[in-house]
Amino acid sequence: MRTADIRQRWLDHFESRGHHIAPSASLISPDPSLLFTVAGMVPFIPYIIGTEPAPHPRIASVQKCIRTNDIENVGRTTRHGTFFQMNGNFSFGDYFKEGAIDLAWELLTGSQDAGGYGFDGDRMWVTLWDEDTESFDVLTRKIGIDPKHIVRLPREENFWDTGQPGPAGPCAEFHYDRGPQYGPEAVGGDVDPGGDRYLEIWNLVFDQFLRGEGQGKDYPLVRELDQKAIDTGAGLERMAFLLQDKQNMYEIDEVFPVIAATQELTGKAYGQGGEDDVRMRVIADHVRSSLMLVGDGVRPSNEGRGYVLRRLLRRAVRSLRLLGVQEAVLPQLLPVSRDLMMASYPEIGADFDRIADVVYGEEDAFLRTLASGTTILDTAVSKAVRAAGEGTPVLGGDEAFALHDTYGFPIDLTLEMAAEHGVQVDEAAFRSLMAEQKARARADAVAKKAGHTDVAVWESIKADMSAPVAFLGYTEASARG
Ligand code: ATP
Ligand code: MG
Ligand code: MG
Ligand code: MG
Repeated sequence: MRTADIRQRWLDHFESRGHHIAPSASLISPDPSLLFTVAGMVPFIPYIIGTEPAPHPRIASVQKCIRTNDIENVGRTTRHGTFFQMNGNFSFGDYFKEGAIDLAWELLTGSQDAGGYGFDGDRMWVTLWDEDTESFDVLTRKIGIDPKHIVRLPREENFWDTGQPGPAGPCAEFHYDRGPQYGPEAVGGDVDPGGDRYLEIWNLVFDQFLRGEGQGKDYPLVRELDQKAIDTGAGLERMAFLLQDKQNMYEIDEVFPVIAATQELTGKAYGQGGEDDVRMRVIADHVRSSLMLVGDGVRPSNEGRGYVLRRLLRRAVRSLRLLGVQEAVLPQLLPVSRDLMMASYPEIGADFDRIADVVYGEEDAFLRTLASGTTILDTAVSKAVRAAGEGTPVLGGDEAFALHDTYGFPIDLTLEMAAEHGVQVDEAAFRSLMAEQKARARADAVAKKAGHTDVAVWESIKADMSAPVAFLGYTEASARG
């Protein structure tokens, strides 16, 4: 089943069961506390926290998402993209736990001929809040799941809230057992997906309680909400990799052709199991994320969203260099991703010339940075080697700082390139120079505040904006997240 078909099947399932279909919101979060849309529920936060009435009691969507907190996972786990699509269904005061579980089970295990996904129900495991007897009963008595496949967890592990007094409630997370070839059976019911055997596919959040003040998950559940809500999120790419019988989400029809193109460009074969595989997966992921981000109007810059985009593009270019490519090649990769994403997002095709200008311009600029910085770095490296004599050569923190400050050379690049010559970097000194620079900027901002405009406020907003993800609602929905 193609990813675009899995997506359509989702929408059809929920539409024929009374849901209004909402188009995906922009990746630029409609909620001002967030840089990016990190989950399907983000556009519906006002209906969930009750500050606005929901226009429809039942809504379903397939939402474009960006999660920067997963950037280091990309290519290394089977299941984390910086860009991905979250399928969701929502009920605002309409159906609750039993309805949500029924709808999920029907779609997951319904036969493919009848519009379902055809997953084997015997391989499904569900994590629940240990006090949620209601869901336990529906799952075991009505649905017929073996109680051994139900993992009951304390509040710290399986409970959603927004980080402040307001709605809160337990989650039910569906995990699929990929089979014994991927690891041991969940001993004592631990499906924490550290390994590759159990894959979390769908999180059902039951907004059930009004919570009071407290730290972390330590707060009173004051009472049941008058209007309860259902908020669910299922990873489209995760379901696709299972249904397409692939090893990970980077090998699905909507992503893999970029890896295939990278093989052609580099002459390296994918599937050898080493770092080159990781690099190719990173390239495929980051090219797609950049395409979608620029499509939604983000432009590279040194702060906020633009910085995230810049980092993604630079990581893609660096990964290509590590695969032996020196020249600009994104013009050979970006159109591949465009052709794949256009089935679900035709606007990407219509706007491609503009998107391409932004992406190719950034690649060229970074290649120039690399070219000028590399000469400086090479000189500093030779100097360090000469100075070290018999000892271990160390590149000074001031030199690493100058590379960063003047040539825009990221520290991890300096570290990596120095290491290729057997040279260490005085990272502690580099960090303290960075801290000094930050302190100076802050002092400047305070000084300016004495003038007309309150720059300090903007500085603090900027600082917040470059924080990974401010909104706690989803990424910490399960402490295991
Ligand atoms: P994980 O524990 O695997 O990191 P999560 O608990 O952080 O996932 P949720 O916040 O519960 O994920 O999001 C709902 C669903 O969205 C997940 O069950 C998963 O199917 C999907 N999902 C979450 N993060 C990603 C990602 N980075 N890439 C692809 N799919 C994702
Ligand atoms: Mg989860
Ligand atoms: Mg999780
Ligand atoms: Mg996570």
